[in-house]
Amino acid sequence: MRIEAVLFDLDGTLLDHDGAAEAAVLAGAAAELPGQPLDRDGLLHFWRDLERREYDRYLAGELTVQEQRRARALGLARHLGLGEWSDEQADAWFAGYLRRYRRSWRAFPEVPRAVRELGADRQLGVITNGEGDIQRDKLRTVGLDALAAHTTASAEAGCAKPDPEIFHLACRTLGVAPANTAYIGDRLDVDAQAATEAGLLGIWLEREPTGAPAVTVPRVRTLAEVAPLLG
Ligand SMILES: [Mg+2]
Repeated sequence: MRIEAVLFDLDGTLLDHDGAAEAAVLAGAAAELPGQPLDRDGLLHFWRDLERREYDRYLAGELTVQEQRRARALGLARHLGLGEWSDEQADAWFAGYLRRYRRSWRAFPEVPRAVRELGADRQLGVITNGEGDIQRDKLRTVGLDALAAHTTASAEAGCAKPDPEIFHLACRTLGVAPANTAYIGDRLDVDAQAATEAGLLGIWLEREPTGAPAVTVPRVRTLAEVAPLLG
């Protein structure tokens, strides 16, 4: 089947979200505890878990964007032994975190060339679980303006990955059939397997070895491997 369009996940696939989030939370924690040593690994592990948990509650409609941000700041304050923050303290801390996070946005090194190659004779787009404004802002900031114009964001779509509907919506927007579309993302379940179940060619980007056994979807280690895979 000829692949006419390639859709990407954004965070962890095109943009080094973890790297930016780590830089932002380390600086934000250090600012609260001047002169004190930080357990970096413990903090980063805690922050990743907390983010995943609260963001999933936001995607499920249990929390607003602001509530999930506040919950993460309040959780961090407790983790650092800073006690119970007020909502205002939490919001102020998160605003600083977001500023640092934005300043640290970077595309993964292979992205510009891989996107150019894949886009030479195919349509390209993005499907992302998040707010459209900030996600498009990320793409423009790292020089992927063309992808920003073809981004399907869950907050605007009214559905989120792994729901097949968001994959079908993105395909309709580009005017391509799911069967002629590849989708690449860094999460096996929410990205690659969900895309496959929606009728696309789902590809798993396993940037770091996870020890996952054989999987039923194609697996790549960088986006540079995708063009050769599609032929
Ligand atoms: Mg991702």
